Amino acid sequence: MMAAVLEAPGNLTLRVVEDPVCSEGGLILKVEACSICSTDVKMIRRGQKDLVYPRILGHEIAGTVFERDGIGPRVGERVQVFPGIFCGRCPSCRRGAENMCERIRIFGFNLDGGFAEYLLVPRESVRNSGVFPVPDGVKFEDAALAEPLACCINAQERVEVGEGDSVLIFGAGPAGILHALLARERGASMVVIVEPLERRVDLARSFGADLVVSSGGEDLAAQADEATDGKGFDVAILASRDVAVDDDLLALLTPGGRMSLFSGFPFDLAAPRLDLNQLHYREILIVGSYGCTPAHNRRALDLISGPLDVGRLITERVSLAEISRGMEHADKREGLKAVVTDFGG
Ligand SMILES: [Zn+2]
Ligand SMILES: [Zn+2]
Repeated sequence: MMAAVLEAPGNLTLRVVEDPVCSEGGLILKVEACSICSTDVKMIRRGQKDLVYPRILGHEIAGTVFERDGIGPRVGERVQVFPGIFCGRCPSCRRGAENMCERIRIFGFNLDGGFAEYLLVPRESVRNSGVFPVPDGVKFEDAALAEPLACCINAQERVEVGEGDSVLIFGAGPAGILHALLARERGASMVVIVEPLERRVDLARSFGADLVVSSGGEDLAAQADEATDGKGFDVAILASRDVAVDDDLLALLTPGGRMSLFSGFPFDLAAPRLDLNQLHYREILIVGSYGCTPAHNRRALDLISGPLDVGRLITERVSLAEISRGMEHADKREGLKAVVTDFGG
């Protein structure tokens, strides 16, 4: 079969590889859609700590069951695959935080992923609720977005976005836009997005942001003040890697405000200097989130088959042979999501 293989950092090759063989209790998926994530672009450029080479990338996957051994969905069923395979026994797994599993393996990281005609889904994934039926009427390409949406759900649950909250989102990339749609769905009364790229400002408006602020600093402080009548925001979500967590940022929050660290930080921003007394006296909560669990994935599919039109985020569709163009689309930040929807074969 054809696959996009990362041979080493900087070297993504389209080539023929062995067809995967169905393992005991596992299944073979005919991949129908696999969306491109900024993590894929990052991994191609710089590698990643959990990446083992050569590796077929792709972790936002939907397809049709082509072959199976025993349990799980039947041949011909439409499914979406949760990217993590976890042990189900460690303390994190037992408290329902499978994304923190000590022994987690991830498609497209340390197992071959979805930028290929076929994907082997091992038994542990089939058995531990890693394969979800795609609801009737939901397209494969929309179902593939369940994973990034599920990561947003995890973050918003942890930071408790709810009815009447004013929400400030940094970044109008795919994650920021999904956060905006989700915050509305959870009852937020106001959604403000901070986005420096001009072409993404209009995009953010088209997704229903009440206000898009294109710069940080004093300008942001003034506009935040005006938007919230001087009260400050209930919630801030950092869906961009370029935001410094400092006293100015904390000052945008209302007393008792919450902040979600959704994106990872580059080295120079990872060790901030801030006045911890602001957290103490104003009871500010800062909450991290990383990835998602099968429960979040299930809720994401429910939302996709219901009120959330995630298909609007797809601004580029490519074939597997054109995957480099899809990667460029994600890298250049011109549109939002690029999805591989044609696998040849
Ligand atoms: Zn992703
Ligand atoms: Zn575990």
